[in-house]
Amino acid sequence: MAKMEVKGLSLARRLYTSRALGLILGLLCVGAAMYPLRPAPWVWGLMLFNGLLWPHLAYQWARRSPTPYHAEHRNLMVDAFMGGFWVAAMHFNPLPSATTVSMMAMNNVAIGGLRFLLVGTVAQVLGLGVGWLIFRPLFIPDTSQLQLYACLPLMCFYPLALGLICFRQAHTLGQQKRELLALSRTDSLTGLLNHGAWKDRLEVEFQRCLHQQPQGGAIALIDIDHFKSINDTYGHVAGDIVLRQLSKMLKQNLRATDVTGRYGGDEFCVILPDMPLSSAAAAMEALRERFSTLGYEQSPALKVSLSIGLAAFNPGHTEATLWLNDADQALYEAKSSGRNRVICCGDGRSRHELLDSV
Ligand code: GH3
Ligand code: MG
Repeated sequence: MAKMEVKGLSLARRLYTSRALGLILGLLCVGAAMYPLRPAPWVWGLMLFNGLLWPHLAYQWARRSPTPYHAEHRNLMVDAFMGGFWVAAMHFNPLPSATTVSMMAMNNVAIGGLRFLLVGTVAQVLGLGVGWLIFRPLFIPDTSQLQLYACLPLMCFYPLALGLICFRQAHTLGQQKRELLALSRTDSLTGLLNHGAWKDRLEVEFQRCLHQQPQGGAIALIDIDHFKSINDTYGHVAGDIVLRQLSKMLKQNLRATDVTGRYGGDEFCVILPDMPLSSAAAAMEALRERFSTLGYEQSPALKVSLSIGLAAFNPGHTEATLWLNDADQALYEAKSSGRNRVICCGDGRSRHELLDSV
């Protein structure tokens, strides 16, 4: 279904209830103003049609239209035209006329802003002109008490209903905005943070390390070894399974405070806040070992290893990218020294060498 069509149908549904309520209350208001003028039977008929049948007809008309959005705009113009028409028919009786005109204006501005208010006003003036030609109205300066009471339900309940509709719409929009924001920060294959979102979190963690001098955090870059040949040998679907398996393992094996993302392709990234390098190396080593022993149902022969580069925050890092470069350098060393290992930044020592030296 086309986007405009969906938008039009949703507008028509939203307006159905408010139009039905507004016009039935409007019938009361206009009817009380018209009664002393002894209108012709056709005028009563038109009034009843406008107040009781038109909302349902308008909805069906928009629903069945190939362009519901435009059909609903036309319906709104009919509403405005009829509003002007009844103002003339009521001989400008002040309170019912002001109530009718202001409710129409509120409706138009709520739906289409100032542009719609302007177009609606033009339609109202046209309706008023047609009403003028038919009824030749005199100005009636008095509103009776009965007419005043007949206007009250429209004045009280219609703004309430319209306000509720606008609130619901704003609430839904807010929710959709939050969902879209979350989606724009998530990697669709793995459900982890995507590159940009993870970099934002790195910047936050870097600033925290810089200003709060915590125990010391570490970052890890994790890359799957020979992933291209896994794709080539077992297919891209199997490759995707491996990527998902790794992201699942990262979620399950790291702390809730650790921040995991997909850096891109077969490369993943982790921030390990407040964790000394030796503990981070132990955690990454455990992950590497566990992942290398995993079996895959669809491809039993498949074995996958990881190369991991680790870097601790140090005061020499004047920018987050320098910290990231250190992890990248360590990853490069892990790759160039034979893969399937964890290397900590600085001296190219493996995790075992690092622990031995403590
Ligand atoms: P190395 O051991 O040096 O890391 O070699 P490699 O083959 O893992 O590295 P390389 O960068 O050459 O290949 C990464 C491959 O990852 C290439 C690309 O086609 C594949 N890839 C990137 N994104 C996806 C993905 O979303 N799904 C799958 N199945 N493959 C992907
Ligand atoms: Mg790789």
